[in-house]
Amino acid sequence: MIQRPRGTRDLLPPDTRLWQAVEGVAREVFGSFGGEEIRTPVFEPTELFVRTVGESTDIVNKEMYTFPDRKGRSLSLRPEMTAGVARAWIENHLGDRSQPLRLYYIGPMFRYERMQHGRYRQFSQIGLEIIGADTPLADAELLAAMHEFFVRLGFLDLEIHLNNLGDPEDRGRYQEAIRAALAPRRAELCADCQRRLEENPLRILDCKVPACQVIAADAPGMDELAGDASRQHVAKVETHLQRMAIPYVRNHRLVRGLDYYLRTVFEVVSPQLGTNTVLCGGGRYDRLIADLGGPAVPGVGFAIGEDRLVEVLPARFKDAVLARPAVYVVPLGEAAQTQVLELARNWAREGVPVEVEITGRSLKAALKRADREGFRVVAMLGDDEISARTVTVRDLVAGDQSAMPLADLPVWWRALTPVSPPARRGNV
Ligand code: ATP
Ligand code: MG
Repeated sequence: MIQRPRGTRDLLPPDTRLWQAVEGVAREVFGSFGGEEIRTPVFEPTELFVRTVGESTDIVNKEMYTFPDRKGRSLSLRPEMTAGVARAWIENHLGDRSQPLRLYYIGPMFRYERMQHGRYRQFSQIGLEIIGADTPLADAELLAAMHEFFVRLGFLDLEIHLNNLGDPEDRGRYQEAIRAALAPRRAELCADCQRRLEENPLRILDCKVPACQVIAADAPGMDELAGDASRQHVAKVETHLQRMAIPYVRNHRLVRGLDYYLRTVFEVVSPQLGTNTVLCGGGRYDRLIADLGGPAVPGVGFAIGEDRLVEVLPARFKDAVLARPAVYVVPLGEAAQTQVLELARNWAREGVPVEVEITGRSLKAALKRADREGFRVVAMLGDDEISARTVTVRDLVAGDQSAMPLADLPVWWRALTPVSPPARRGNV
């Protein structure tokens, strides 16, 4: 039997309902902050990721799906989205539009990773980029949109970790300081980190090997070595967050797995998943578009790991989404069979979600199924109902049954299923 490739998943109902609901919240929240959706290709020239994500990052070094096409051009499945957004920004002259642009995306990314819990080779990210604003206010707005997204999903316990990565001018100094601090313990580092010590010491702070994390704790914090400009920038972002009562913690060891970040960087961590499993990561990337040959346009963005997010969704949100709110319409007899689809269509047009019994189950079997599948209402249509132009509805939750005119069902349904109140403000 043919099986799916390792590290990929089939997302099946009813879980796909959770994915749709999460994506709906993202569109609603990011849209309400002025965001618009961008869709870029799933594969890009390999060069794009080498030049942006960085040659000495894990992503480019060992996680990319790279292949030659039939003409021998090197292509890669996108491991992340910001590089593609930056490329699209340049290629489509988005700089000619009124700035800033707030662009959100939802889609699959690909990384050839070792198999672990919460780590897939095809996974989905939901992200937002604000391009064309270099102010601390832009960072704060981005973080506010991200926070609002998590709040609407009902998260109460997530932590935002924030750091200052400094400006690229500070980077050399910082790399030197880390190298000097960690070189004496070189032998205790993992093989990758020994290489990183020469190539890109910053990456050591991001290593997942526990021994390396212990050693990395001795490295100096970037903020101590950063220039005034980046320090003031991040301090202002913090002021904005405090003003909005968005909780965060300063984490001086936080670097990100991509080379293009500077100044503000952040992650969202779930206590349920532990600090090694990050739900969301992001930061500022003011040189990225210029590095790709475009104009000097600043940007800031984040990417949420949707697979991990769905895994830890608050129960309240999940229960609301997974409840099966449809009316199960059961035709009993020949006459009902001929009318049931038209009737169901009319109810559906009035906003009532319906599911028609189309396999010819008996009433007894249909009621059993309704119970098993968690339907709230069974609408029964037999010869008596047809001649009286009524329908018999059974509310399985309340346990009562009544007959009503066919046209009354939508009103009755709406009274039964009031719109649930918005999620309570949380702590995120
Ligand atoms: P990690 O440190 O867990 O490897 P990362 O720093 O490589 O994450 P980013 O490139 O910042 O991750 O991507 C943003 C988010 O995308 C992550 O916080 C995570 O939730 C999700 N993500 C990254 N890689 C994977 C993966 N292989 N499978 C599932 N989700 C992932
Ligand atoms: Mg990674």
